[in-house]
Amino acid sequence: MLTVNGKVIPPERLADADDGGVPLKTVLDACRAVGAEVPAFCHERRVSAAGHCRMCMVEVDGRCVPACHTALRADMRIETETPRLVAFRRDLGELVVSESSPGGRVEAELSALGVTGERYPKRPKPPLVPDISHPYLRFSLDACILCRLCVRACDEIQGQFVYAVEGRGSSTRIGWGGGPFAETDCKSCGACASICPTGAISDRDRLRAHADGLVEDRVVRTTCSYCGVGCQLEVHAVGTPPGWRPTGLSEPPSARSPISERVLRIEGAPSPVNHEHTCVKGRYAHTFVHHEDRLREPLIRKSGVLTPASWDEALTYVAGELLRHAPHVAMLSSSRCTNEENYLAQKWFRGGLGTNNVDCCARVCHGPSAAGMRRSVGTGAATNSLADLERADVLLLSGSNTTESHPVTGARIKQAALKGMRLIVVDPRRTELARLADVHLQLNPGTNIALLNSLAAAIVDEGLCNRDFIDTRTEGFEAFETFIQAYLPERAEATTGVPAARVRKAARMYASAGRPMQAHGLGMTEHFQGSEGVMALCNLALLVGAIGREGVGVNPLRGQNNVQGAADMGCQPDLVTGYQRPDDPDVQTRFGSIWGRPLPTSKGLTLPEMYESARRGDLKAMFIFGEDVVQTDPDVKQVEAALKALSHLTVLEIFPSRTSALAHVVLPGASFLEKDGTFTNGERRIQRVRQVLSPVGDARPDWQVLCDLMGATGWTQDYRHPADIMDEIARVNPSFAGVSHARLEHDGLQWPVPSIGHAGTPILHRSSFPLPGGRARLVCIDALPSPSFATRTPGDVLLITGRVLAHYNSGSMTRRTDNQRLEPTDRLELNPADATARGLRTGDRVRLQNPFGEAFGVVEVTERVPPGAVFMSFHQPESETNHVTSDVMDRLAGCPEYKLVPVSLHPLPATESP
Ligand code: SF4
Repeated sequence: MLTVNGKVIPPERLADADDGGVPLKTVLDACRAVGAEVPAFCHERRVSAAGHCRMCMVEVDGRCVPACHTALRADMRIETETPRLVAFRRDLGELVVSESSPGGRVEAELSALGVTGERYPKRPKPPLVPDISHPYLRFSLDACILCRLCVRACDEIQGQFVYAVEGRGSSTRIGWGGGPFAETDCKSCGACASICPTGAISDRDRLRAHADGLVEDRVVRTTCSYCGVGCQLEVHAVGTPPGWRPTGLSEPPSARSPISERVLRIEGAPSPVNHEHTCVKGRYAHTFVHHEDRLREPLIRKSGVLTPASWDEALTYVAGELLRHAPHVAMLSSSRCTNEENYLAQKWFRGGLGTNNVDCCARVCHGPSAAGMRRSVGTGAATNSLADLERADVLLLSGSNTTESHPVTGARIKQAALKGMRLIVVDPRRTELARLADVHLQLNPGTNIALLNSLAAAIVDEGLCNRDFIDTRTEGFEAFETFIQAYLPERAEATTGVPAARVRKAARMYASAGRPMQAHGLGMTEHFQGSEGVMALCNLALLVGAIGREGVGVNPLRGQNNVQGAADMGCQPDLVTGYQRPDDPDVQTRFGSIWGRPLPTSKGLTLPEMYESARRGDLKAMFIFGEDVVQTDPDVKQVEAALKALSHLTVLEIFPSRTSALAHVVLPGASFLEKDGTFTNGERRIQRVRQVLSPVGDARPDWQVLCDLMGATGWTQDYRHPADIMDEIARVNPSFAGVSHARLEHDGLQWPVPSIGHAGTPILHRSSFPLPGGRARLVCIDALPSPSFATRTPGDVLLITGRVLAHYNSGSMTRRTDNQRLEPTDRLELNPADATARGLRTGDRVRLQNPFGEAFGVVEVTERVPPGAVFMSFHQPESETNHVTSDVMDRLAGCPEYKLVPVSLHPLPATESP
């Protein structure tokens, strides 16, 4: 019989419970399950048990054992409070305080044990100098008790291995190899500060709250608004917005606080998406919310100047202009905003203004994933879940610098690789994951199709296909088998630059794995043949039967926090909410009966077509919602020309931007911390966004602004809360029929959710594909040279653009936080051979030039890029990166070719600042 202090624990608690209950594994689990207080300074559920501190000693059948890492058996008699244990813990506590000065939970637990510090004299030691070199993290190691939780957090959660135990005997301490902490490889995820039980490692947010004497009165669970991973966050806040009401997982304040509202700190929440982890953006980049630059009131251009106006005046003016120009009007909706807001945006323009001219930024990132996957497997979304990363044997990662662009997923991939998952990386750059990979296929930029085809050719050539899957679930194999011979690795090698033997090794690794999984990023999609590249990835999965089960699949790593949702909600010209065709009579009937307005059937404009139409003078007015296209869209001069040609432009934003500078009306919106709603992450998981703060100034939640504008244009809406909008989405979209805010309270739901009570769909295509005959398509795709190469001149290098860890997209939020101290400039990565040939060194400034324009970068000489290629991010406006990206687009989805454009490099004198 298993007992703790005489309380019986039934043996079934030790087994994996059918109901999802957590099984008890250790003696400490058993103690906690019955509420026995056992101090455990060095133990935390996020990391492995280590047994360093010995505070958790208990008696098992009369023998003292450390509870945290002693395996539980069904026949143990556990005692936690014998006189011997109480005396032992107090004595150990006295030794701890003789060596250190802990704060935090350890200080509280020592006090509860009756430790006074009087038993042993404090060992005289010179005080350690606090390290405050890092923008966020702070070190005061006199408080350290050497529990090593920080070491394990850095190793086992982030996989960065920054910390080590240095020295011997009484000089033993936590270290990072000497020098200021800011000079380490730390990724600033904050897991160490979050887990440290003594305050020896802390952070800016904790110390500021402490200095200001503030203690949170609410912890609100919400969804991160940066990338498409969709991490769940717990926002510790003080002060209560008027009308704020607790919902579900949000803890109510004990009393209405007189202190003005403020975020004190952010922690990762327990969730299948991020398991309490966050990156530097999710945890720390929140101070933009109250930045002085926030838009706080509506602005109307008067005599050429944007001038403060009342909401009534602004709404009436915008409505009048849109009605005057309808249907020659267009909406660019926002992947940064909620599903409910995106739904309203397209509903307004379709039902209210009579046009399908609606698009979103999926056009310029993962539109090719949606287009390619729809053609190949029938659904344009991730087939599997992030949790499958822990189930896969092999991961084929293509065109994704995951540890910077999707940091929490990147950390998860690192952990999986450390535990034995094999990793194949397809990328021209030697990214962090490429360095860890079993095989790095470092292809020449612009040769994705040739490389993926050569992998497929090797699989076919070496008889590694899953013929049963091909015969029963696909079509087109006979033609494909013949076609693909032209891409045998030995033939493609000259094009891709990847040795044939390496391609064959990767093909064998992928095809012979029990669970080969794929993930891909914008390095696959933002190309002339982006959609076709995604289809080539689907070919690989279909050849080996790696779709429709656990640990496999084709999984686009979606960029913006809600780019999946914006597309799901119908913010694209050819498909209304739920990927339904607006010209389908059944769809017409359903929307007509729910909206009371007909769906327009005329073809709508994609975003590039909107610009083109505006420049021609056909499109008269645009509403741009949460996008700074003048910084983020390619070939910026043409974008600016289009916006300047409009008779009317309204921008709904949280900060002034280059785009809002061209607007006739600017409306102040709300950040994710100031409103309710939902985001959908890259694994199709619809998750709640919950209000923490009041909107600043006169700003309003965007869903309210859209409702007000719909009313002002003659279509009154009576939603009281975003939950009402979601209820309507569930009625128009069969894939959301079982979705409501109430059902999303905990971990959200992965669509399709076809009925109330349906648990959601973690894995698509288990038995058939939503294509004619239920079969997926193997597609023959020839590799074509990108038109971008036509502008190449001797001496040019190929520019690849992308993101870096500390910033997000236009940087409008992250640049207004201390993340700007982590990455103050856009760096131009340049191979040493190219640097030597041009006499350039790290820190030099250069001008990038091509027929589209010029941009400016600060050189970093690095072998991350191969000779002939350079990489630069686009987060800092002064870099003008998108002045040199081209007008070349994906042939099927219209996504710009951000990942390949020839540029020439010109050194700038040190004084000539870009
Ligand atoms: Fe937010 Fe993405 Fe970082 Fe998660 S990984 S905390 S979603 S930015």
